[in-house]
Amino acid sequence: MFNFSNSIQTVMERAMESCRTEMARIGGLALYNESKVLSAFQKLRVGNHHFMPTSGYGYDDPGRETLERLFCEIFGGEAALVRPQFMSGTHAIAAALFGVLRPGDLLLSATGRPYDTLEEVIGISGGEGNGSLKDYGIDYDQVDMTGEGQVDLVALRSKLQTEMPAAVFIQRSRGYAWRPALGMDELKKVVELIRSVLPDTVIIVDNCYGEFTQRVEPLEVGCDLMAGSLIKNPGGGLAPTGGYVVGRQDLVEKVSYRLTAPGIGAEVGSYAAGYTPFYQGLFLAPHVVGESLKGMALAASLFRQLGMEVYTDAEPSDIILPIRFGERNKLIAFCQAIQSASPIDSHVVPEPWDMPGYGDPVIMAAGTFVQGASLELSADAPIKEPYIGYLQGGLTLEHIQLALMLVLERMAREGLIEI
Ligand SMILES: *Cc1c(COP(=O)(O)O)cnc(C)c1O
Repeated sequence: MFNFSNSIQTVMERAMESCRTEMARIGGLALYNESKVLSAFQKLRVGNHHFMPTSGYGYDDPGRETLERLFCEIFGGEAALVRPQFMSGTHAIAAALFGVLRPGDLLLSATGRPYDTLEEVIGISGGEGNGSLKDYGIDYDQVDMTGEGQVDLVALRSKLQTEMPAAVFIQRSRGYAWRPALGMDELKKVVELIRSVLPDTVIIVDNCYGEFTQRVEPLEVGCDLMAGSLIKNPGGGLAPTGGYVVGRQDLVEKVSYRLTAPGIGAEVGSYAAGYTPFYQGLFLAPHVVGESLKGMALAASLFRQLGMEVYTDAEPSDIILPIRFGERNKLIAFCQAIQSASPIDSHVVPEPWDMPGYGDPVIMAAGTFVQGASLELSADAPIKEPYIGYLQGGLTLEHIQLALMLVLERMAREGLIEI
């Protein structure tokens, strides 16, 4: 049993009180999204036979096929690939890019520099000969976001007109950046602009961390393809691995030839461990995403009370909370405290390291059931000024509450904050 001091309990109570309205809003959001999910399960007549293990080629695997149809129903796509054979979100997004683009094409990012792990996929960083898009003669350009973290519509229009990209890439989440996540209203405006200049360009969304954070998803505002990770939002904390791509039929087919092989596509794929956690995780996802959102609202109000700067959106479109620590040792202590407040590996002390795919040393606190799953409570930070930590996830609000109190207790004990 933990025994928190009165001052810590008081700070927590005050923080809970100050985000009551936001918690109620998130409750309504989770209910709305659960209604999408439950009705899709019923419409597709999901039954126990969909959970069965399959082996070998996996032709006509009913578990795989119905799971993919569920994603289509829920996210508004014509076809989907929802596969444990995608190792990660990066893999799914890379398959989408390689599937759609051809030599001579240009990929234009509308949201500035993409997520770190995509830099080597695109060829922005990393050497020659690693098989990046650039290696295959696919060019890249980007439209930087405005100082306020909005898509720069003027610059975007001009690049669309002069460069005529075959595909436009849009990242929904803020990633590792001090800016808002892209809301669906703003995305809709961006899509309308792209369509007005280049009706046929393919719009691809990196949807990592975005699923179920709003009532509308990117395909519903006119994007063509979106991709993400199953150990983030749509896996509901239960999916053990995997990624997904969902969207237009013809494009998903092209992506399937990258996932497997040309001519084979989506028709194969078995899973000997059975699909139960993918279905059950998807069923839980709107609720768990709601818990994460509530936890981030709580953390924001808590750190604000302590005089720290956090970045919040009125209605967030991802599950990340950036917190500015300003000092290296505070940031590292925070991440270590989050790790020590985890159910798993609480005794492990994370240190900054040169993680593959990332430019700066990164510290990652992830005391998670599924390795690296960031729908579970976790904190990441590139070690660079102004020492911003990115807190995300949390399977239950209770855990996030306890973890935050443990973090405050520890940071106060080490003289890093005053309560
Ligand atoms: C997590 C993430 C990715 C990559 O996902 P991995 O599963 O870690 O490979 C890509 N883009 C964004 C915005 C992400 O948050």
